[in-house]
Amino acid sequence: MYKFDPKSLKAEEFINHEEILATIQYAEEHKNDVELIDQILEKARPQKTATGWECKGLTHREASVLLASELPELNEKLFKIAEEIKLAFYGNRIVIFAPLYLSNYCVNGCLYCPYHLKNKHIPRKKLTQAEVEAEVIALQDMGHKRLAIEAGEDPVNNPLEYILECIKTIYSVKHKNGAIRRVNVNIAATTVENYRKLKEAGIGTYILFQETYHKESYETLHPTGPKHNYAYHTEAMDRAMEGGIDDVGLGVLFGLEGYKYEFAGLIMHAEHLEAVHGVGPHTISVPRVKPADDIDPDDFDNSLSDETFEKIAACIRLAVPYTGMIISTRETEAVRSKMLKCGISQVSGGSRTSVGGYAGYSSDERPHDTEQFDVSDQRSLDEVVKWLMESGHIPSFCTACYREGRTGDRFMSLCKSGQIQNCCHPNALMTLSEYLEDYASPATKEVGYKMVEDELQNIPKEKVRAIAKQHIEDIRNNNQRDFRF
Ligand code: SAM
Repeated sequence: MYKFDPKSLKAEEFINHEEILATIQYAEEHKNDVELIDQILEKARPQKTATGWECKGLTHREASVLLASELPELNEKLFKIAEEIKLAFYGNRIVIFAPLYLSNYCVNGCLYCPYHLKNKHIPRKKLTQAEVEAEVIALQDMGHKRLAIEAGEDPVNNPLEYILECIKTIYSVKHKNGAIRRVNVNIAATTVENYRKLKEAGIGTYILFQETYHKESYETLHPTGPKHNYAYHTEAMDRAMEGGIDDVGLGVLFGLEGYKYEFAGLIMHAEHLEAVHGVGPHTISVPRVKPADDIDPDDFDNSLSDETFEKIAACIRLAVPYTGMIISTRETEAVRSKMLKCGISQVSGGSRTSVGGYAGYSSDERPHDTEQFDVSDQRSLDEVVKWLMESGHIPSFCTACYREGRTGDRFMSLCKSGQIQNCCHPNALMTLSEYLEDYASPATKEVGYKMVEDELQNIPKEKVRAIAKQHIEDIRNNNQRDFRF
């Protein structure tokens, strides 16, 4: 008998290989069990409560049955419920962010990443503080308020002190009406002490992709460097939470291993965080391996079709209904459009994945020398904002929750309380108005203000609606900024 224990702090017990294999087998055996599938879908459906909406979520086994099922009528129901959940907890808002690459120095040997140590022809670059400032000004001038900083792992070139210094610089830059109000951090697994320092530096979410939950493949894909240690990497979120960070972001790099294995592992990881810390992941990212400098995705034989990719997203949405879901510019506009219907709540826009890729380049120029991977959606932020609005989504530049201390379980309570429509919705409209006023093209501005006007009517509380309306007038006419509920 194997030991699977979501409450354990040992990687191999909370992400248990045998339990994943048993889950895949269980899913295979039940994939045509119409009665069970209907029960699972019913369980996942959002229920109206006296104050808002409630969702039960799904276990890794239940969600895996949905993922395995090929019943023709399943997909329609699955995608419909995914959309219902997204609307119940996140409304029609889509949060916007951009990555900021600080350094591509790296001592690891990840086989899928061009920053691996053995790559001797890629130029190595690390931003100086003056360069960080220039990048932030360029990002502010696009209209960004929320960043995810990215760096390779290199204790000599990018020690934690360097990352902390960069965070300080980023928050300090105030250019015109610009400001970066939330810095999420995507750096290698580290110690509790370092996580505490990141928390003290005022970070938003700590993001770390598992890459693959399959230990053997993980070790093969990370042959050298500190990242080779599967347990240290897999247990990182527990250390982050011990260090006081209560918003953590999970992710799998799809394409490396079998997607059914990764999916079960991902949901088990979420169950583990909930069981041990009382709060699940703040976000889940769904990156797929992309071509890069010396990387060919065809070298990994687990690539998945767009249809499977969409189904994975919908199944994640049903399994962990309160968790935000992120899709990056690794994907094309067409795939991103479809993914928006599967429960995605955050997208990046106008992204550059090279070190120093923003400052000094126009929106259609992009440096490739230090790029981490090819960006498929190369539209400008303005185009992404307009596209979102034209498909009925409110682009939100809101960062209020974390600045008001609504993180971890306090954020989850807000999500469940039904007050989101009186809080996140007006915040989205106010931050969108800031964007429209300061950065939008005339065409985007026109679409945007029409949307703001219409969407103001969807704020349930009359008093909140009146205040939001006044704030938007102050943004438009009195150059006032940074209102929030
Ligand atoms: N070095 C850190 C770490 O080890 O987690 C920071 C993350 S790295 C800058 C961001 C993520 O990009 C990685 O976790 C990986 O999943 C993803 N990535 C690396 N190579 C990629 C590729 N060729 N295509 C798509 N995503 C890739």
